[in-house]
Amino acid sequence: MSEHSDAPLDKLWREYGEVFAAFDDLTLARWMAQTLGQLQGRVWRSSHPLVGAYRLAAQVAHDRQIWHKRLATAPRDYPEAACCRAPLLPLITRDVPEQGLICQHCNATAIAFDDIPVDVQKMLRNWAAKYAPIHQVAHWDDRQQKRAGNYDRALEDAASEAERLLAAAGNKLGPALLEFYPAVLWEDQDECLDVRPEDIPL
Ligand SMILES: [Zn+2]
Repeated sequence: MSEHSDAPLDKLWREYGEVFAAFDDLTLARWMAQTLGQLQGRVWRSSHPLVGAYRLAAQVAHDRQIWHKRLATAPRDYPEAACCRAPLLPLITRDVPEQGLICQHCNATAIAFDDIPVDVQKMLRNWAAKYAPIHQVAHWDDRQQKRAGNYDRALEDAASEAERLLAAAGNKLGPALLEFYPAVLWEDQDECLDVRPEDIPL
């Protein structure tokens, strides 16, 4: 979700985020520190409302450099993320082999792929290698679509497979990473294949 996009959904999220823009720095820092405590120790869907609220707060906090001001202390199990020194709250996405785990505060790489514990790297690489060709079906060119015969059917099959693989991100990859990080988020949707969070039961 880009900050400056005019897509209707992004506009709606910016409207939601106004509540945090109205917080003063201290209130915002305390709200985030308390919410990090509630997020701790679990794997979360990125679509979870608590995570969504935290992400909005985190973006406002990043703009105001809240964590540099040391107004509130995050729960001590959260190390500083290397990207922006906010508490480490990593997100698993389908691009994990290239982009690593993503920071909820600055949207940059919070943990480079090579810095993820090796055993989990393997799981992530295998998972992403299965996911990439499935996702790619949404981006097939005319020639590839024709070769498939029934492209709608191919898209439906790809979406079903994506649902299964995304559920595995929530059931297997997230818990494996939770051994090493205080809380873990996973992206529970694929906008290109039209897979929504509610399509992915755990
Ligand atoms: Zn960051």
